[in-house]
Amino acid sequence: MLECRKITKRYGGHFYSLGSPETSVDFDVKPGELFAVIGPSGCGKSTLLKLIGGFTSTSAGKITIQGRDVTGLPPYLRPTNTVFQNYALFPHLTIGENVSFGLEMARVPQAECAARVEDALRLVGLASFSRRYVSEMSGGQLQRVALARAIVNKPAILLLDEPLGALDLKLRRQMQDEIVELKRALGMTILHVTHDQEEACAIADRIAVMNAGHILQIDSPVDLYRRPRTAFVAEFINAGTILRGDVKLAGQDGRLCSKAGTFLGRNNCGEVSGKLALLLPRYGAKVRRISGNEVSDVNSLVATVVRIAFTGTEFAVQLEAKTGDRFTVQLTIEEMAQGGLDLGAQVNASWAAENLQIVRDDLPEA
Ligand code: ADP
Ligand code: MG
Repeated sequence: MLECRKITKRYGGHFYSLGSPETSVDFDVKPGELFAVIGPSGCGKSTLLKLIGGFTSTSAGKITIQGRDVTGLPPYLRPTNTVFQNYALFPHLTIGENVSFGLEMARVPQAECAARVEDALRLVGLASFSRRYVSEMSGGQLQRVALARAIVNKPAILLLDEPLGALDLKLRRQMQDEIVELKRALGMTILHVTHDQEEACAIADRIAVMNAGHILQIDSPVDLYRRPRTAFVAEFINAGTILRGDVKLAGQDGRLCSKAGTFLGRNNCGEVSGKLALLLPRYGAKVRRISGNEVSDVNSLVATVVRIAFTGTEFAVQLEAKTGDRFTVQLTIEEMAQGGLDLGAQVNASWAAENLQIVRDDLPEA
């Protein structure tokens, strides 16, 4: 559906906002896919979307949509539509007029125009709001109007740039469901940019994690959490804690020797040299209360419970090892109750080797 080949973007000067002369941005999005792009502020997410939508030009590379090279085309000649964070609606037009604006510009006959506007407003739950003005709508409703305006011309690809950033949590969840429903109902391909990794996980088929103008990893939400390939990705999506030390590899297995202990893990990052580290994942840890002086075995740590946060369905339990290393594990209500894991308790936390990941240590030196 969408192919981005070797694209880079420089807004002028030497600084590359996307890619670099050595490494360009290269990825595909499949038909009907909801593809999320996440990464910290300034990493190039909006730039990537603007290149695909045609709002700014590539410095190099090629963008293909449905097999057609669109690299040099202006936005209105591309089968895309963008929803920006700030809605960008016309205040002097009614909701219906805002939604029909693009169709009228494209000279779609009046009757068809009216029917499509009605359809689009119904899809976003605003069927009866057509005659209202922008000033008479709430933020959440305006966001829906912006969505209706984007889907009314049935774009092949819908581009969403942090469209839910300004909404409160409940509305955001509701809109997330509606985006998934829109995708299902219209079979649309969606590129969804967000800095919220939870939102990306909740709705996306695949997620691309970006940093400093590059895509570091593209995977399904589950694979991203289970097999982050770099320390940056692991920490950005909050998959667990990175432990540093001396890493030795033997085939698919890796061994980390650190002050905190010795850990055997899996090398899924494909790296055989360079700086490596180990990920202690939040999930899958076995935590039991201990009394007296127990020493930690391979793949385990003796630690103290220093913070317990209830996250609604589970507990995020922060543990501190003797070395001062802090890490968080995710425990169920039952595990907490049975284990007697109160604040200040001494515990032993252990992991199965298949859950421990050797990752590339790509964090800048502190
Ligand atoms: P994000 O959306 O991930 O926060 P952006 O794509 O907006 O990041 O920005 C990526 C980088 O490109 C930033 O360093 C930003 O300052 C720079 N940038 C974005 N737009 C422009 C522009 N029009 N002119 C110059 N630099 C820009
Ligand atoms: Mg942005």
